Amino acid sequence: MRQILNYIDGRLIPAAKGRVLDNVEPATGLAFSTLPNSDADDVNAAVASAQRAFPAWSNTPPAERSRILLRIADLIDANLDALALAESTDTGKPLSLAREVDIPRSASNFRFFATAILHTESAMHETRDLEPDGTTPRRAINYTLRSPRGVAGLISPWNLPLYLLSWKIAPALSTGNTAVAKPSEITPLTAFMLSELCIKAGLPAGVLNIIHGTGPGAGQPLVTHPHVPAISFTGGTSTGATLSAAAAPMFKRLSLELGGKNPTIIFDDADIEQALATTLNSSFRNQGQICLCASRVLVHRPIYAKFLERLTAATKALRIGDPFEPATQQGSLNSAAHLTKVAAAVDTARSLGAQVLCGGRKVPKDHLPPRCKEGFFYEPTILAGLDPACTTEQEEIFGPVVSVTPFDDEAHAIRLANGTRYGLATTLWTTNLSRAHRVAQQLEAGIVWINCWMLRDLRTPFGGVKHSGVGREGGQEALRFFTEPKNVCIRV
Ligand code: NDP
Repeated sequence: MRQILNYIDGRLIPAAKGRVLDNVEPATGLAFSTLPNSDADDVNAAVASAQRAFPAWSNTPPAERSRILLRIADLIDANLDALALAESTDTGKPLSLAREVDIPRSASNFRFFATAILHTESAMHETRDLEPDGTTPRRAINYTLRSPRGVAGLISPWNLPLYLLSWKIAPALSTGNTAVAKPSEITPLTAFMLSELCIKAGLPAGVLNIIHGTGPGAGQPLVTHPHVPAISFTGGTSTGATLSAAAAPMFKRLSLELGGKNPTIIFDDADIEQALATTLNSSFRNQGQICLCASRVLVHRPIYAKFLERLTAATKALRIGDPFEPATQQGSLNSAAHLTKVAAAVDTARSLGAQVLCGGRKVPKDHLPPRCKEGFFYEPTILAGLDPACTTEQEEIFGPVVSVTPFDDEAHAIRLANGTRYGLATTLWTTNLSRAHRVAQQLEAGIVWINCWMLRDLRTPFGGVKHSGVGREGGQEALRFFTEPKNVCIRV
């Protein structure tokens, strides 16, 4: 079995106590590698290494930091095949998706922030007022210095492992911080491969450390470590709450990207062909395990019945199978525990009176290829007839499950869309420009896509409102999060 190792002080090493966890391939249900089951000792060693590396790295000219990070991006590109295969093996997602999205985007994350730091500007404010005598003019110049915060703690989930981890590592390192990252214990493989690439790229020892292990075992000691002043976390809302409670008394800077219950709103004036194709994708891409996936499809009543019929037919036609097969559109869910959670959520929906229009069960073994018979596959599922206030409509499922609900007019659509504690992303389908702007303005969401979905520009602010998160990632927002501003005021 392949042995995944921690990356501490530029070296690849096992956990200090030698403990390991099995890493399972979800498409087969079989363990295929081991990872360190790290604890506070490993985290302390990683933070100490990051502290030692900080003075030199933070004083390295941005152009040199940029060169090293660009080398990492190039190495990710050069290893596209191996990384995509690893990501597909580790997550159960179609290999084609890992090749087209996960790995190229990870390289883009490094490239984007490696070049962004070459173009940043700091603010200057000229102050003109009067001396206390009320008549003599007074002048001062204020400028803002932005310094890296120190050692950043970076914690990421299992759904887009390298994509989301690199989305944190790249802005943290480019701005001169050093970092300790903790990927999900369920999907550690590409993070390990990244550590090998960082060594190859010449990243100085200790600038990035990657610790593998469980949330409570390795994540918690990182969050509460006194020498880690900033934590960037992507994961579930309840884990986010636990992290906040631990970090707040220590006055740490926190960026939290959390769960969602994203609506898609389809008006009767929409381009129905585009809305249908994109809704199929936004509902089930990566088996619905993307924080931006739509899980509540709200359809204008005049087109509801026809739209539902066509969406159901298209969903039934999705090809479920071995993630390595080029024709596969739906792979396996990420873990046995997650499969159990998704199946239980659909059982709850049934008990609440949902009509299950398609799916609603684990994929029967005899529908799967021999290699995948013990894998964690669930059929893409459409639910209808649910009360918007019920648990299924209020809580995140994070799997291949969507509900479809009719609405009568704009006000009704907005009420339904905003009617959960979440507020990450909303998609809106209409050809009426005024309606598009009017509705977008009233939606409680960090991102509104109009006539598209997951069209990402890395310069835009990314994140959610309400229980979907605190703060924003992306572009200037990320550069600001990882730096501390200081106002310097000079009397002229
Ligand atoms: P979790 O919250 O379970 O875990 C996220 C990360 O936190 C993992 O690395 C986990 O480790 C770690 N962790 C768990 N407990 C602790 C703790 N007490 N202290 C420190 N770290 C801890 O989320 P999932 O991995 O299940 O990911 C799915 C969730 O992520 C969904 O809710 C989804 O909506 C959300 N998400 C949000 C995104 C956004 O941008 N808003 C993007 C993608 C996903 P381990 O797994 O090893 O236990």
